[in-house]
Amino acid sequence: MTTVAVLGSTGSIGTQTLDIVRDRRERFDVVALAAGRSVEPVITQAREFAPELVVTADPDTVPTLRDALPGVRVETGAAALAEAAASAEVAINGVVGFAGLPATIAALENGRRLGLANKESLIAAGPVVAAARSTPGAEILPVDSEHCALHQCLRSNEVFADTGRPDRIAQLILTASGGPFRGRSATSLLGVTVADALAHPTWQMGPKVTIDSSTLMNKGLEVIEAHELYGVDYDLIEVVVHPPSIVHSMVTFSDGSTIAQLSRPDMRLCIGYALAYPDRLDIPYGAIDWTEPRSLDFEPPDHEAFPCLGLAYRAGRLGETAPACLSAANEVAVEAFLDGAVAWADIPGILEDVLARHDNPPADSIDAVTSVDERARAHAREIVAARSAA
Ligand code: MG
Repeated sequence: MTTVAVLGSTGSIGTQTLDIVRDRRERFDVVALAAGRSVEPVITQAREFAPELVVTADPDTVPTLRDALPGVRVETGAAALAEAAASAEVAINGVVGFAGLPATIAALENGRRLGLANKESLIAAGPVVAAARSTPGAEILPVDSEHCALHQCLRSNEVFADTGRPDRIAQLILTASGGPFRGRSATSLLGVTVADALAHPTWQMGPKVTIDSSTLMNKGLEVIEAHELYGVDYDLIEVVVHPPSIVHSMVTFSDGSTIAQLSRPDMRLCIGYALAYPDRLDIPYGAIDWTEPRSLDFEPPDHEAFPCLGLAYRAGRLGETAPACLSAANEVAVEAFLDGAVAWADIPGILEDVLARHDNPPADSIDAVTSVDERARAHAREIVAARSAA
């Protein structure tokens, strides 16, 4: 029996994790749930999965949850979130945004396996996460289809699998679906609506990552995520657009062989991979019917229509706290777009302005990263306010 903590339990990753546990009760035991502000869904989950600890992000909901869940410890705050993350053999971190960082650090510092869907914590605090990751027993299994694919491809090279030495890796190739606006020119994208941007062609995800997919910022953040996870230089990380979303990423090795991972787009495969590793889950969520004709198309990304991708490479190459700055500004810009305060086409300009003012202090502690995060958010909010007033 593997004990599991589900952080962000009422979100897309959390509910899919619980779907897997529901199907394999004999194998996985949920010991902690952490949710945001939703009350009824987490009560329903806690009644079904009987965890020892429930953490809520909203202190006002604690009395209601305690009344509804006798015998379950109900807590709130960052320390409680960290305790939940450290309480199980595997922590699935599906908390949205920078708020997921304490859970990432706590799971790793306690030598746990972290199923990481919260890419922002790795992107914003790469050097801090890297130090926590060196704790004996600690490991990161990425719950992101591209990085889960890369993990599987990299396992085909025993030198990398044993030593983490990336010197036989010629290229990491991240695939992108292209999102809902693939093929559109920059000028044709000036008036797109929130509904247009939320209509992702292949993946069902939360609103933040869906908007990030429409700008290709999601892919840009994933380039930084791949660099942090696998220690590969930015010059060796390539993005290709692959609309069918069947090839989830590829690795080319020094002998010219390319290894790819193919499956249907289903996050439960990645979550199950993180839960069962080094074994595999015995539920074929990703199975493809290969008797049906299909083609695998690839094309280069359009950097002019989607400047966020290039901004992410720029921040990644700057290193230190530049990715934290970019990711924080992006969270604010995406929220502002979802709230109708700025246009979709304003997002890259906001990020560029915030990044231009960033003086890039070292990312040597959570405090340093948090302070950059706060300043980048404040600066992004100023720009948003100026633009929505204009
Ligand atoms: Mg992804």
